[in-house]
Amino acid sequence: MNLNLALLKGDGIGPEIVDSAIAVLDKICAKYNHTVKYNEYLAGGCAIDATGIPLPEETLKGCLESDSVLLGAVGGPKWDTLPGHLRPEKALLGVRKALGLYANIRPATLYPALSERCPLRSAKAFDIVIIRELTGGIYFGKSGREDAGEMGEAAFDTEYYTVKEIERIGRVGFETAIKRNKKLTSIDKANVLESSRLWRETMHKLAAEYPDVDYSDMLVDNAAMQLIRDPGQFDVIVTSNMFGDILSDEASQLTGSIGMLPSASLGEGTRGMYEPIHGSAPDIAGKGVANPLATILSVAMMLRYSFNLEAEAKEIENAVETALNNGHLTRDIGGELGTAAITEEILKLI
Ligand code: NAD
Repeated sequence: MNLNLALLKGDGIGPEIVDSAIAVLDKICAKYNHTVKYNEYLAGGCAIDATGIPLPEETLKGCLESDSVLLGAVGGPKWDTLPGHLRPEKALLGVRKALGLYANIRPATLYPALSERCPLRSAKAFDIVIIRELTGGIYFGKSGREDAGEMGEAAFDTEYYTVKEIERIGRVGFETAIKRNKKLTSIDKANVLESSRLWRETMHKLAAEYPDVDYSDMLVDNAAMQLIRDPGQFDVIVTSNMFGDILSDEASQLTGSIGMLPSASLGEGTRGMYEPIHGSAPDIAGKGVANPLATILSVAMMLRYSFNLEAEAKEIENAVETALNNGHLTRDIGGELGTAAITEEILKLI
C-alpha cells in the first residue's frame, strides 16, 4: 500500500515526538512492504512566525491532498498574547473543519505496567475508547445574551442535534465496537434533555442493525461516577460533544500519564487527523526527554482507522506494551529514558 501523509510537527516538543513516530512508521512499513511519503507543512506557532497566520493556505491544501494527517502539538508562551483568531490552536480547528472531521476517538488505556500511576487505589488495567461527536451540539448551537428584565442580563447556549448527526457518530461507535469487544455504551441525559431523547431513540434504531453488539444507554451523571467506581466495565463509549469533552478528560486522568494517550479525528471518508492528546510541553521542549508514545500510538490508530492495516497497528501497540512491561519508561511515567532511547526500544521490538 502507498501512504501519502501530511506532517504538521508544530511547536515545542512537536518535532521531537513526530520524528520518533516517523521512525516507527518507517520500520513497520518496511516490514510489511508499504511505501510512505511525507509532506511537511507549517501549522501553529511556527506558521505564525514564518507567515503571520497559524494555518497557511498551503498547509490546508496539503492536508486536503493527503491520505491522512499526523500532528505533533501546537502553541507555547511565545504566542499566548496574540488575539483569538491568530492563536496557534486555530490551526487545529481549521484543519478539522476543512476535512469535515466530526468524530473524535480517544482511547484511555491503563497499562498493567503503569497501574500504580492511576489515581484510583484499586484500579486494574483497563482499555476504553471514547468517541466524541466533534462538530455539533451545544458548542455549535445558537447562543447569545439577552435582557431578562428583573433578573438582569442572561446568556444561553443551545444543545442541537439532527438525526443525521447522531446516526453518523452512532455508526462510528458501532463499527468501532465491532472491531473491538462488541460492547457499546451510549451516554446521554435523556431523563432531562429533549436532544438526548432524540439521541437515544436514534441510537436504539441503529442498535437494531447491529444485533451482535452488546448495547446499553447510561445517563451522563451516572457515567461520570461509574468511570471512577469501575472503569473496566466500559469498552467503547459514544457520546455528544460536551459530554465527550468532559468524560474523555476524566478517563485520560485515570491512566495517570498524559504522555501516553493518542487520538484520532475522523470524517466521512478514510482521511483523518491523528495526534497525541497532550500539548507542546514548552517546559521540556528541545531537551530530548519528551515521551513519544502517545504520538507512536497515534500512528497505530492511523494505520487501523485510515488504512485498515490492523496487524501493523497491533504490532506497534504490542511493542509499546512490551517496552513498558520490560521497564523501559520515560521520565513522565517514572523512568529515566529520553525520547531517542524509548524510540530505540520500540524499534527493536518491531
Ligand atoms: P501540555 O500537555 O503541553 O503539558 C502539560 C504537562 O505535561 C507539562 O509539564 C509537560 O511537560 C507534560 N507533558 C506533556 N506532554 C508530554 C510528553 N509527551 N512527555 C512528557 N511530558 C509531557 O499542556 P500545557 O502546558 O497546558 O500547554 C502547553 C501548550 O500546548 C499551550 O500553548 C497549549 O495551548 C498547547 N496545547 C496544544 C494542544 C494541541 O496541540 N493539541 C493541546 C493542549 C495544549
